[in-house]
Amino acid sequence: MSKLNFRTGIGYDLHRLEDNRDLIIGGIKIPYEKGLLGHSDADVLVHAIIDALLGALSMPDIGTLFPDTDEKYKGADSIELLKKVYSMVREKGYLINNLDTNIIAQAPKMMPYIPQMKEKLSSVLALDIEDISIKAKTKEHLDAVGEKKAIEAQAVVTVFKA
Ligand code: ZN
Repeated sequence: MSKLNFRTGIGYDLHRLEDNRDLIIGGIKIPYEKGLLGHSDADVLVHAIIDALLGALSMPDIGTLFPDTDEKYKGADSIELLKKVYSMVREKGYLINNLDTNIIAQAPKMMPYIPQMKEKLSSVLALDIEDISIKAKTKEHLDAVGEKKAIEAQAVVTVFKA
């Protein structure tokens, strides 16, 4: 049993960048020569947020809940998966207090799309824009992310018993 009426969760995700895929991050389609590879739409930020929410409630992770062996989730819109997870959070009697995230990408530039991502997440998670943080980082050209072969995301969320 939780000692306080709030819980925190951490989420992390990484997807490879490949040709002939749409780049969808935070529910927003970003114009770029490549996109993230995955069974679903591979929205790396939304996946990290989903795992943070599931982690906060000590529930099974995203891969267990939405297995990539299930045809149902092929090409799935990750925002729809996030909506499902948010309703599970609500069913357990919790609301989200705030969300803090990092998108780690060498390219393309994330900054111009962050306001739209916040707008989208705000509507799905019943959060004010001021309670959502999305930070864009690079890897200084180091490792697979720095070589533009992949994009990573991290998320920390606090939920409280409403
Ligand atoms: Zn993922």
